[in-house]
Amino acid sequence: MKLYKLLTPGPLTTTDTVKQQMLFDHCTWDDDYKQITQEIRKELLELAHVSSDEYTAVLMQGSGSFGVESVLTSVIGTSDELLICANGAYGERMADIAQHAGLKYHMYSEHYNQVPNAQKIGEMLDADPAITHVSMVHSETTSGILNDIEAVGRVVREKGRVFIVDAMSSFGGVDIPVKDWGIDFIISSANKCIQGVPGFSFVIARMDLLEQSAGKARSLSLDLYDQWKTMEADGKWRFTSPTHVVLAFAQAMKELREEGGIQARNRRYRENNRLLIERMGELGIHPYIDSTHQGPIITTFFYPEDCHFTFSQMYDYIKDRGYAIYPGKVTEAETFRIGNIGEIYPEDIEKVCALMKNFLEEYNHEEN
Ligand SMILES: *Cc1c(COP(=O)(O)O)cnc(C)c1O
Repeated sequence: MKLYKLLTPGPLTTTDTVKQQMLFDHCTWDDDYKQITQEIRKELLELAHVSSDEYTAVLMQGSGSFGVESVLTSVIGTSDELLICANGAYGERMADIAQHAGLKYHMYSEHYNQVPNAQKIGEMLDADPAITHVSMVHSETTSGILNDIEAVGRVVREKGRVFIVDAMSSFGGVDIPVKDWGIDFIISSANKCIQGVPGFSFVIARMDLLEQSAGKARSLSLDLYDQWKTMEADGKWRFTSPTHVVLAFAQAMKELREEGGIQARNRRYRENNRLLIERMGELGIHPYIDSTHQGPIITTFFYPEDCHFTFSQMYDYIKDRGYAIYPGKVTEAETFRIGNIGEIYPEDIEKVCALMKNFLEEYNHEEN
């Protein structure tokens, strides 16, 4: 098998030391294991800058979408109404979840290269007092845009509504003072900026609101309140926990601390991202999102002018030489994406951009 590094936004490239944790089959019922879960929960609160008096962390089996679905279907009651602010596929997935669960919801859709506007959201909340909850994605991985959850959180709090944030591809890589920004529920997963492997999502929740959600869940397995009640007692997961993933995650959290925490990781990601955009620009390849809103996680690029290659030709060429990139997901333009999170450093960015240059040269040569 040929090895390559992932320039995709999760799963992403992890360290060997994180992967090595998965070589041991850990027992789930003993105190050692439950203690690992409790430590993870405690440290997640620290990363979120919140206190355990007001917030709690709940781990949930499954990929990131399971976490989003768990929150939306557990805390939004039958007499509540949700305003979903969407500017990409992950915001739209929330609508899909709401639709499936029969939640009452409203859509505020923005163009994929625009951020949802806090003032407009305020006006919508004023106009419709029935709306009780507002949800939004922070880093919209569809495009790479970074939404202004701080401004929206301020408005949502001012208007007395509950704010739910999907910070899947940003938490751990972008510093988020959860309480200060008025966030009541924030969701992320093991395999994004914390640099673990896929297998569970986590939710940092305001405890009083979580308590109020008792009995509201539409689903048994995704019942956030029940999951929390069981986990809170002594660190036991309600159903089989993904033990190997949990051990790998504990190691990934340790490595995040050793790197210097979120600030240091954010610096590395931003430098990767800056370098990527600069080098691609030298090849005539430009980002879809303008620089004011471009996030540090993943970049959507337009294809260079006058090119006739397919994504899979470019993908195969680069993958054969050590890196996996990502197809585009925005609907109105031909694009591709390159992620720069995970165990990725500026030398990787230099390498992949050099490969891109070679690919363009070789391809044009063949064409001529
Ligand atoms: C990765 C991601 C998710 C979750 O996707 P899964 O495939 O279920 O892990 C949700 N929202 C955003 C913004 C993401 O980047």
